[in-house]
Amino acid sequence: MAKELHCGDIMDGCPEVIRGATEEEVLRKGAQHARDAHGVDKLDDDTVRMVKSKIREA
Ligand SMILES: [Zn+2]
Repeated sequence: MAKELHCGDIMDGCPEVIRGATEEEVLRKGAQHARDAHGVDKLDDDTVRMVKSKIREA
């Protein structure tokens, strides 16, 4: 079962959808997208928890 994260759920107006086979893969790609697209260098524990809660079954 694939997972996906709609960045717009976190960053208002961002159209990016991040997909992966596992939660870990989505988190890793999401962290890279956050760095590239939003200038977010480091995700703290609260942010990671919040992002995890937004990951859906694709
Ligand atoms: Zn984004």
